[in-house]
Amino acid sequence: MTAIIKLEHVEQWYDKGKENEYHALRDINIEIEQGDYVAFFGPSGCGKTTLLYATSGIDRVTSGKVLIKDRDITAFTNQELAIYRQTGIGIIFQQFNLVPSLSVLDNVALPMAFVGINRAKALEEAQRLLKRLNLDQYAQRFPQELSGGQQQRVGIARSLANNPPIIIADEPLGNLDSVNAQNALKILRELNEQDGRTIIMVTHEAWSLRDARTIFHMKDGVIVSVEHRTPDPNAGANKIETTGGQTDEEKLKEQLAKEARTKEARAMMVRILSNFFMRGQNVGEMQRFEDILAQRFTSVIDTLRFQELLGTSFEEGGAGMWKNKAERIAAYIEDIINKQKDLDATIALINENPELPIQDEIRQLRTWITQDYIGHISPFKAELLDALISDRIHRFVDAKQFLEVLHMPVKEFGAGFPLNSAQQMAERMEVIVDGVGEYEPKR
Ligand code: ADP
Ligand code: MG
Repeated sequence: MTAIIKLEHVEQWYDKGKENEYHALRDINIEIEQGDYVAFFGPSGCGKTTLLYATSGIDRVTSGKVLIKDRDITAFTNQELAIYRQTGIGIIFQQFNLVPSLSVLDNVALPMAFVGINRAKALEEAQRLLKRLNLDQYAQRFPQELSGGQQQRVGIARSLANNPPIIIADEPLGNLDSVNAQNALKILRELNEQDGRTIIMVTHEAWSLRDARTIFHMKDGVIVSVEHRTPDPNAGANKIETTGGQTDEEKLKEQLAKEARTKEARAMMVRILSNFFMRGQNVGEMQRFEDILAQRFTSVIDTLRFQELLGTSFEEGGAGMWKNKAERIAAYIEDIINKQKDLDATIALINENPELPIQDEIRQLRTWITQDYIGHISPFKAELLDALISDRIHRFVDAKQFLEVLHMPVKEFGAGFPLNSAQQMAERMEVIVDGVGEYEPKR
């Protein structure tokens, strides 16, 4: 076996330099083998989630190296990191994190939509994943119509969208009763043994370590020991406490759950819009955008202030967008608020406008790559250029094809630029494609 993930001298600080600074991970050096079943185990607050997020590139670390297949992801551009997160790892959550107003099928298809897979294909694949988890008869239901165990299985199906080689799970059994917890463990084991996926699980409950082969024991931000073992499939099974029956407080609980769902739907809307508009940005920038968006959704700020904050630099507390992008996004959000669009309608809108978040960037790029061209660029040519730039950004065409189309005569559906101009434009484009960080708002 080979190490798929290596952490070298990793340190993680929260709020470093402030009086509430916290040293969450201290000199972490670990290796995770491809195809292993790994657990981070330790008491609450010892840094398990922090380590999981560092290990999987969800958060950037304060210092040290995080090597995935020998590539140091701390050196990744934000865009590379985003692509890695969306296709390299599947995440299973304790709270399931399903979108309440989307069908089970659409929930599973959603991560595929985020990486630009067309809807028909995404739905087909989602259907296949549901079938695998014995959920095909629930495809058209909504999450709240399913039991907790079924919802978690939907969460697992969703984690398999985009076919990630690594599955991470943060306390995945915490909200399940014993039967469903056993079942979820069985599925994790299958994903490991049958598919050969690497599993990294976080837990503070010893019984859920049943199938783990490598256990990192943690305390106060430090790995105190590493345990390798051959799991016994029956070990610990009868130690699981069964949860009690129904209680008198159930009605109140239901009421609270309903309120929680409304809040959750709004939070999910914020998350989805952030995924859409902030594609390729880092976690901090997305978080900032989500904070500002949540303030607008709850009317803490008005639309003018909202637009102003979007256009303010990251250092000064804004989202660091260009002015016209901020303006357009503010208008878009107002539309959602005024028409009281729900999550479904918002996602439909997103599906209709996949290019929307990068339109301004593309226009800006077009101006930049054509700056030395002295001829006239007709609106028709400009449009063609925009489509071509978009294709190059998405890697639908390579550098050579990009140049070819620029130079190809108009009657052959090219842009018809003279060869030397086309070459100059193509060279500029490659500078951008190689260093995608360059046209992102500076942090
Ligand atoms: P675990 O998953 O083991 O319960 P965490 O990794 O969530 O632990 O947290 C480890 C420590 O870091 C805790 O003391 C927690 O309060 C702190 N911490 C976690 N996330 C943040 C954050 N975003 N900002 C500040 N402190 C944090
Ligand atoms: Mg945790």
